Amino acid sequence: MNCSRRGFLKLTGAGVACLSLGQLGFDLREAKAYAMALKIEGAKEIITICPFCSVSCNMIAHVRDGELISTEGDPDFPVNEGALCAKGAALTSMSKNHHRLLKPKYRAPYSDTWEEKDWDWMLDRLARRIKSTRDREIILKNQKGQTVNRLESVFHLGTSHADNEECALIHQAMRSLGVVHMDHQARI
Ligand code: SF4
Repeated sequence: MNCSRRGFLKLTGAGVACLSLGQLGFDLREAKAYAMALKIEGAKEIITICPFCSVSCNMIAHVRDGELISTEGDPDFPVNEGALCAKGAALTSMSKNHHRLLKPKYRAPYSDTWEEKDWDWMLDRLARRIKSTRDREIILKNQKGQTVNRLESVFHLGTSHADNEECALIHQAMRSLGVVHMDHQARI
């Protein structure tokens, strides 16, 4: 949601007013339900999972005309019972954000400039670099002559934007290359 400072102050002002009325004993449930209905009117509800950590809170995503307009915690899911932490609560603004990169960027060695590249170029480049590094540096046997097939010069850092199944596939792919150094952002 785009919210100007002025809009934010109006909203928070309204929130304070509502809180005061609530404290005075007025029943605000109907007003709150009406305000929510305006925001998500005509939107389709899609149950999804917060991608940011392994707690995997359920969320309701409101999508209208193919556009994500709002997210909230799913009150029916027993793990989070409608609650979200700050990361999960900010999901809509992370999805619609002018800082969000939508295309790969590449900085050549010794360059100080980022160039926009398409995905085909980037994936080919990554595949070639990984293959040449592995061919050059794979350790097939240890000092005792035992087969180890270790690639110690590549490190993999997982992202909490990947779900469990994607993480399992990435882990298997890294192991098949011989990568032994791995960690995951959601653990940090
Ligand atoms: S980041 Fe927060 S909202 Fe998302 S799954 Fe983890 S605890 Fe839940």
